[in-house]
Amino acid sequence: MIIVNEDWCKGCGMCIERCPVKALEQSDKLNRRGVYPPRLKENNNCNYCRLCELICPDFAITVIPDENLLKKTVKPKLIPVRRVRA
Ligand code: SF4
Ligand code: SF4
Repeated sequence: MIIVNEDWCKGCGMCIERCPVKALEQSDKLNRRGVYPPRLKENNNCNYCRLCELICPDFAITVIPDENLLKKTVKPKLIPVRRVRA
């Protein structure tokens, strides 16, 4: 899931330009700053790389990876730590 805080966007277009799979496009709705924030394209290949989130100068994008993808990844095992008394 990609969450765009639309009113924080200043319309620089960096996220749209830099997305490696061209998953973003300009929306057709002006925000409070008078610019068109990005949105995910209808059919997109977003891989949740988070590049858009990281490069946005206004912190307007939050990427929440697909839960199904997370389930497939291997979760790190917890390693028990033994306390040693001094
Ligand atoms: S998370 Fe990555 S692939 Fe998805 S829209 Fe952002 S830059 Fe593009
Ligand atoms: S990088 Fe940020 S400020 Fe620039 S268009 Fe994308 S969401 Fe808006």
